[in-house]
Amino acid sequence: MSFHGKHVVITGGGSGVGAELARQFAAQGAKVTILGRRLEALQQVATETGALPLACDVTLRESLDQAIAQASVENGAVAIALANAGAAPSKAFEQMAVEDFTDALGVNLLGVFNLWQACLPGMKAAGWGRLIAVASTAGLKGYPYVSGYCAAKHGVLGLTRSLALELAKTGVTVNALCPGFIETPLLETSLDLIVAKTGMSREQAAKSLRRGNPQDRFIQPGEVAAAALWLAGDGAGSVNGTALPISGGEI
Ligand code: NAP
Repeated sequence: MSFHGKHVVITGGGSGVGAELARQFAAQGAKVTILGRRLEALQQVATETGALPLACDVTLRESLDQAIAQASVENGAVAIALANAGAAPSKAFEQMAVEDFTDALGVNLLGVFNLWQACLPGMKAAGWGRLIAVASTAGLKGYPYVSGYCAAKHGVLGLTRSLALELAKTGVTVNALCPGFIETPLLETSLDLIVAKTGMSREQAAKSLRRGNPQDRFIQPGEVAAAALWLAGDGAGSVNGTALPISGGEI
C-alpha cells in the first residue's frame, strides 16, 4: 500500500527505530511528523526524510497535545500514530526508588496513552486509523534488572488489547510490536551498563544479549519498520489487538 498523503506521527523519531520508521514511511509518500525531546536529533532525521520535527515530551500531556495540534495544522489529521518513544533504565528491584519506577512507566506506558488519546478523535472522524505501539518482548516475558520497563511494556499490551476491542467497530485498529534486542542507541546504553556493572568486555556483553535470540543476532530497526508498514496498511485491517513478536523465535 502507498501511504501517499497519510499523516503519520512517530514519537522518538530522532533516533534508532523511530528514525527508521520515519525513513520508511516517508519513502512510501506519507506526511511524517517526528516527536522527541531533543530537537537537534529530530532535525537531522527531518533533513534526511522531509519529516516535520517537533520537540515534545510524551510524558507531559500538554506538551504532547500542543505538538499534535501543530502537526495537524501542517499535515492534516493524524491517520497513523506510532508510539515508539521509550527508555530501558536498569536497576536491581531493591535499589529502585519510587521515581525510577514511575519514570519507567512515564515514557513507556503513559507516553503511549497520551499519544493515542490525542490522535484518536481525528481517526474516528475519518473512520480509519492505526494506533501502533513499539512495545518489546519485555511486554511478553520478564527480564531481570528492568522490572519497571517490563511492567510498563506489559501494560502497553493490556492497553492495546483492551482498546482494540473498544474501537473494533470504528475503523481504527490497535496493535503492538514486540521486538527483541534491536541494534540502536538504546542497546548501546544497555551494553555500557552491563560492561560497567559486570566487568565483561563489550563483545562478551553483546554476545550474552544476542544469545537470547535463537537466531543469535540483534534485530535491525528496518525489520521493526517493515512490520509497522504492514500493520499500517489496508491489508492488515483485520489484525487488531495483537502483540507481534519480532524476536527470531525468542518468544
Ligand atoms: P532510542 O534510539 O534510544 O530511541 C528512543 C527514543 O525515545 C529517542 O529518540 C528519545 O528521544 C525518545 N524519548 C525518550 N523519552 C522521551 C520522552 N519523554 N518524550 C519524547 N521522546 C522520548 O532506542 P530505540 O531502541 O530506537 O527505542 C525505540 C523503542 O523500541 C522503545 O520504545 C524501546 O523500548 C523499544 N525497544 C527497543 C529495543 C532495543 O533493544 N533497542 C528492544 C525492544 C523494544 P529524546 O531523547 O530526544 O526524547
